[in-house]
Amino acid sequence: MKDLYRLLPEEMEQMIIDMGQPRYRADQILYPLYYKFPKNISEIRQLPTMMRDKLAEEGYVIGSATEVHRVVSEDGDTTKLLLNLADGTPVETVLIQYPPSKINGHPRSTICVSTQVGCAMGCTFCATGQMGFERNIKAEEIVAQVIHFAELLEKRGQHVTNLVFMGMGEPLVNYDETIRAVRLLTHPRGFGIGQRNITISTIGIISGIDKLAEEDLQIGLAISLHAPNDKLRQKLVPTAGPHSVDDLIAAGKRYFKKTGRRVTFEYALIEGVNDSPEIAKELSLLLDGNGSHVNLIPLNPTAGDFHRPSKRSVLEFERILNIAGVNCTVRVEKGTEISAACGQLRTDVLG
Ligand code: SAH
Ligand code: SF4
Repeated sequence: MKDLYRLLPEEMEQMIIDMGQPRYRADQILYPLYYKFPKNISEIRQLPTMMRDKLAEEGYVIGSATEVHRVVSEDGDTTKLLLNLADGTPVETVLIQYPPSKINGHPRSTICVSTQVGCAMGCTFCATGQMGFERNIKAEEIVAQVIHFAELLEKRGQHVTNLVFMGMGEPLVNYDETIRAVRLLTHPRGFGIGQRNITISTIGIISGIDKLAEEDLQIGLAISLHAPNDKLRQKLVPTAGPHSVDDLIAAGKRYFKKTGRRVTFEYALIEGVNDSPEIAKELSLLLDGNGSHVNLIPLNPTAGDFHRPSKRSVLEFERILNIAGVNCTVRVEKGTEISAACGQLRTDVLG
């Protein structure tokens, strides 16, 4: 089975030409795929019946995701879905909305996609990490997650404005499929979202960060740091190498130098583990003069023994970084009551 959502516009054209058809037919497929959301090839009315039959005969299909479970936060701003991929594999995808801006009346609508089923990195505080690794998610399956929400938003007169690779899995371990998904979703003849509206989050796959810097893509990078020294970091990220903290800071600098895009460091704050004022000072010394941004994420408690720090200690941690001149924000917690941390919903629903 060959999924039409896998093909980049140039590949779609080649496929059409190989079928002995005129090149312009590619756009007669691409436009409906990204704007009309057909579930079957027979629904692509722009195409002559003969072409639709031919595509089906050649084994082409339209892969879509099916909603199996939905949770919405009390304020309605966060919607978390458990979606079955075309082969029935359940994955999590989240929509996070921010209030409408006064300028165009549209909310910022960020989709958070999964790139792997489970994750082999085994981070001790992460529900996905505790599942182990099942399989990589293909580019067309990442696209299907976005398309599912695009259709849902369209019904409300809204659209997808931002995309973050922060769901289940480590995107830079599934490098080729992640980049193909980025290219499909940013192509002006594909989904057409701006590269600058995309962020990839990584636990720190150095080779992947360096490769990404060479891609000629203007996407944002977030590095999940979680600790200012290797000893503490290895407790949280058991797969991290012995020099991972220094290596990550250096990789972040290289990414910035090459792309001009500032790197964000993510830091999950865990009570009594990495949230003390001393550790905040150590972190500020590490990042001082780096021009980088820190995103503090108060922990979404998962099944493990880790807890979220009090609001007071979160603010104190933030204050110490800010005083030291390190640019820092606390992630607005929107999804806690709906298990919005990656991997939690799948665990809640499927056990
Ligand atoms: N594998 C990538 C992207 C997916 S995780 C990475 O680790 O960066 C996206 C973000 O969610 C990461 O910063 C991760 O540390 C954070 N995260 C995972 N579990 C969490 C939890 N229980 N509470 C708060 N943040 C969590
Ligand atoms: Fe994987 Fe990211 Fe979870 Fe670590 S935090 S286990 S890298 S998904």
